[in-house]
Formats: sequence, C-alpha cells, structure tokens
Amino acid sequence: MIPYGKQDINQSDIDAVLEVLTSDFLTQGPKVPAFEAKVARHVGAKHALAVNSATSALHIACLALGLGEGDWLWTTPITFVASANCGLYCGAKVDFVDIHPETYNLCPKKLAEKLEGAKREGRLPKVLVAVHLCGQPCDMESIYELSRQYGFRIIEDASHAIGGKYQGAFIGSCQYSDISVFSFHPVKIVTTAEGGMAVTNSEELAGRMNLLRSHGVTRDQSLMTHEPDGPWYYQQVDLGFNYRMTELQAALGVSQMERLDAFVVRRHELAERYNQLLKDLPVTTPWQHPDSYSGLHLYVIRLQLDNITVSHRQVFETLREQGIGVNLHYIPVHTQPYYKAMGFKAEDFPESMAYYSEAISLPMFQGMTDDQQNEVLTALTLALGTGGKV
Ligand SMILES: *Cc1c(COP(=O)(O)O)cnc(C)c1O
Repeated sequence: MIPYGKQDINQSDIDAVLEVLTSDFLTQGPKVPAFEAKVARHVGAKHALAVNSATSALHIACLALGLGEGDWLWTTPITFVASANCGLYCGAKVDFVDIHPETYNLCPKKLAEKLEGAKREGRLPKVLVAVHLCGQPCDMESIYELSRQYGFRIIEDASHAIGGKYQGAFIGSCQYSDISVFSFHPVKIVTTAEGGMAVTNSEELAGRMNLLRSHGVTRDQSLMTHEPDGPWYYQQVDLGFNYRMTELQAALGVSQMERLDAFVVRRHELAERYNQLLKDLPVTTPWQHPDSYSGLHLYVIRLQLDNITVSHRQVFETLREQGIGVNLHYIPVHTQPYYKAMGFKAEDFPESMAYYSEAISLPMFQGMTDDQQNEVLTALTLALGTGGKV
C-alpha cells in the first residue's frame, strides 16, 4: 500500500534521539528550548511553546485568549475535529463558517456575512480558528481586517502548513493572528512522533501558555503572590495541565527541522508532477494562490462527478483495492454525531458538503518516488473509468 502520508526518518534523526536517551534529561532538559528556538527563528515568531500535540496547543491557545463559558469559537467544517473541540474544552460554544469553493478554506465573504448577523443577535465569536487546509494559507489579511472590525481574536491552525508562506512571510510569523499552532504528528510535514507547538509574538500570551502547559505551576518569583518559602518553593497560580513535550521528541524535532525546506520543496515537485499527470482526467486539481507558498501537507483532488459514470465511493474503493492508500480530509465536523447533537444540520454548510462528496487525498509525502506517483496515476485512471453508476 502506498500511504497517503509517511514520516521521513534518517540516521541523523535516530542519532539525535539516541543521544538524548543516554543523557541526563528525558524531559525538561535543553532540547525542548532548542527546538522552540529553532522553530521560532525559522518561522519568524518571537515566542514558541512546545507541547505534546497540536490539540494541546489549540487548547492552551484558546485559554490564553480568555475563551470560556458563554463565548463562541468559530472555525471551518473542513478540518480535523481538534480545531473545533478546543473551544468545547474551554466551555465555549462552537459554530462554523462554510468554505470557499476553490480554496477549501474558510470563506472570508461568508465570514463577513455571518459576523454581521451575529452582531445583530449579540453572539459574536471571541476566537476564530483559521485552518490552512492542505498547507494552503487562508486569506489572513481579510480575516484580520474583520477581526479589527468585530473584535475577535485569531488562532491559525497551521497543523498542515509549517514551511509554507503567506505574502512572503513564513506561516507562524503571526502577522495577522494572535497565535499559530503546528502539529508534529507523523503524517504531517515534520514529526516528533506526537507533538505540537504554539507560536506567538505576544510575551503575555506566551507566558500564559507556558504556565498552562505545566500545571499552572511556576518557579518564577515575579509571578508568585509572595516571597518563596525557600529554595524548594514553587507556586500554582493557575489551573494548568501536563502538556509537556519530552526531550526525545524535541531532539527529533530539531533534527527534522534541518530538512523542513527540502521536504516542502519535494512536496512542490510532487504536486507539480501530479498537476501534469492528472490534467486530462475528470478531476479538479488543487488551487494554488499565486502569491502564497503552500506547505502542501495534502494533495486533494475533487472528482468531476458529472463527467464520470462511477461514484465517489467506487473511485475511493477501487484506489484502495489497487494499493493506493487514499484518504478523505475531512468529514465535515458539523456532521459528526457529537456536533449533530448540538443541532447542526448537514445542509447548514452546503459548500463543505459538496466538497465532502467529491474530495480524495492522494498520497503525498517527501519520500514518495516518481514510480509510486505513476502507480497512483494508473490506479486512478482505472478507477475513474470502470464500473457503472449504481
Ligand atoms: C493533525 C491536526 C490537528 C491535531 O494535531 P495533533 O498533533 O494530532 O493533536 C489539528 N488540526 C488539524 C487541522 C490537523 O490536521
């Protein structure tokens, strides 16, 4: 099976992890700050906080922005459930903004309309989670302008997007957001096995997230309510969690970051080759913003169902039978039973449903060979042409 995504581990990665294993620190040592510094420098953010997953990063990002009971978090339905769940963790309510038909990202025009309605009804969002689907950046400038007008805060869920650029700046520079979040799950662009990071230019938000990721406990005297009782002393000043990243993970992260640029370059080569190979097939290839540089975590095609006699499901199943590990990113979050129970209807977000009925993620990972890509083409050509519509 050719997987849809796969980590790239070389000898330097292995050596880096082994070195930590025999060192004094398995956690809370020098590797985590080194990894944070490396990512912060690369993306152009002032502060970086490594945690044990992007889900944890989203959670503490929401808390740091003051999201709580009675507040609203808005995001896109076409994302992993974590982009929405972080709002629920904080006791907030979640709503969605439908996607743009070409970018598949949250549509700024629909956002503007929904904000206008929400303002009248007194239910404006406190936090918007902008997801850079497939690594393609959202229209951040428009979203930022709306945030100024309506007073909400912005988290970029950049789980797909490390190494990508928007308006010439690396995603994570937080030019148009409060906090950006990366995921280092093995299917993503760089990996630490499990892991995530929140980056921000705000010292205040960084300080709050730093407390929240480790029990709300501090050894920093300036944060304490009184003089330390003695050299052993620490204080819990907030209710935090254990969301810390280990030294093993951070060492892997440092080593992987050395190859980030090369990874994204290879992904672009593969995407360009896919674009060529697929251009005569009844599929829509991904839209690329001319002034943006996508991280290209995913390569999603949409089937032109009017031009084929097989169903979306048949194409998907035939590809899997042919050993092509295709996937579907994503099942619209509002249709998940947990969200449906809150009153969402599938038809509330028609563009997301149209996308869901046609989308397929083809294999895309840095170690993919041209031969493997040719195999995908052969299988897809077969899948699109076989069988009758049932
Ligand atoms: C993978 C992913 C997450 C969650 O990442 P973890 O590191 O697995 O917690 C969140 N949002 C999006 C868009 C993702 O793709």
